[in-house]
Amino acid sequence: AATIYYDDDADLSLLEGKTVAILGYGSQGHAQAQNLRDSGVNVIVGQRKGSANYDLAVEHGFKPVSAAEAAEAGDLVNLLLPDEVQGDVFKSDVAGNLKPGNVLMCSHGFNIHFNQIDPPKGVGCALVAPKGPGHLVRSEYEAGGGVPCLIALQESEGTDLNEVRGLALAYAKGVGGTRGGVIETTFAEETETDLFGEQAVLCGGVSELVKAGFDTLVEAGYQPEMAYFECMHELKLIVDLLYQGGLSYMRYSISNTAEYGDYKTGPRIITDETRAEMKRVLEDIQSGKFARDWILENKANQASFKATRRREREHGVEQIGLKLREMMSWIDDKKV
Ligand code: NDP
Ligand code: MG
Ligand code: MG
Repeated sequence: AATIYYDDDADLSLLEGKTVAILGYGSQGHAQAQNLRDSGVNVIVGQRKGSANYDLAVEHGFKPVSAAEAAEAGDLVNLLLPDEVQGDVFKSDVAGNLKPGNVLMCSHGFNIHFNQIDPPKGVGCALVAPKGPGHLVRSEYEAGGGVPCLIALQESEGTDLNEVRGLALAYAKGVGGTRGGVIETTFAEETETDLFGEQAVLCGGVSELVKAGFDTLVEAGYQPEMAYFECMHELKLIVDLLYQGGLSYMRYSISNTAEYGDYKTGPRIITDETRAEMKRVLEDIQSGKFARDWILENKANQASFKATRRREREHGVEQIGLKLREMMSWIDDKKV
């Protein structure tokens, strides 16, 4: 069974007299920096000038400095930059400013696990990953709760894992994580399960399922508005039920006809072939093939990635969705 830590297992006083440097004031950065500060921790924000995130940090009462200055000042230095940017910023601004006894941190293990970042000798290395988007990490904390977190420790020459664990748990308590529960994992497990989940189920799987369902109805002559509601809009209702009570509660709540169709048709959509492909997807993640492809894509300035993003935005379900959401005034509709 997993080891789960709660408030009493973590000692915030371990951070007394220490400075936490948060590099990046984006989704996770803005939330973790503010939560730590409200927990009484001394926080310095490293955020480049000239962006909305810089202004936001100022508005929130921080005095943002460059990544290099923040790394210099921090005893714990957390890289909350996009994963594909972290390797370069680490090399240019962070590595040379870390001292023995410091702890290098992150909220996703990609760069450490796939060897894009190597913690210097004597520098501890820990992951504290909130299991939710930044805005929720902040709002839950403000409401007196906390988004559950994962922690993981990386062996690093000349460091004591127990000491690093204590600091990581104190950090997790500072962002509110121990209120919800902090599960100990490894860099390999966090990185591989996170990539698999988003690719096979949450993002890749769901996107293709929605598009395929929409296309099937539209190609059969049904109105795209109807197809949008059936295959995209109503997903939220289903996901909310899953979140509250799992598959059983979702199936208890839907009609018996829908439940019968679920059992009868689900396995025709996710077939043995799909399950075999999922295993191959996982193998590509474990072997580092996926990481190599993504790193290469970034070396090529994300050319094919950006072209795919543009093409995907033109899909029929996206076009009709833009119009329909504008008419639903209760939806806080977003455009990108
Ligand atoms: P965001 O994209 O929201 O924020 C990125 C930050 O990095 C911004 O402050 C941005 O500043 C800065 N930045 C971007 N490019 C550069 C650059 N080239 N040089 C210097 N600064 C740069 O990131 P997230 O918060 O989403 O992700 C941070 C980490 O947290 C990642 O490791 C991610 O995997 C992890 N994570 C994210 C979760 C989420 O829900 N978003 C959940 C759990 C983990 P600017 O405004 O100037 O571009
Ligand atoms: Mg992820
Ligand atoms: Mg229906």
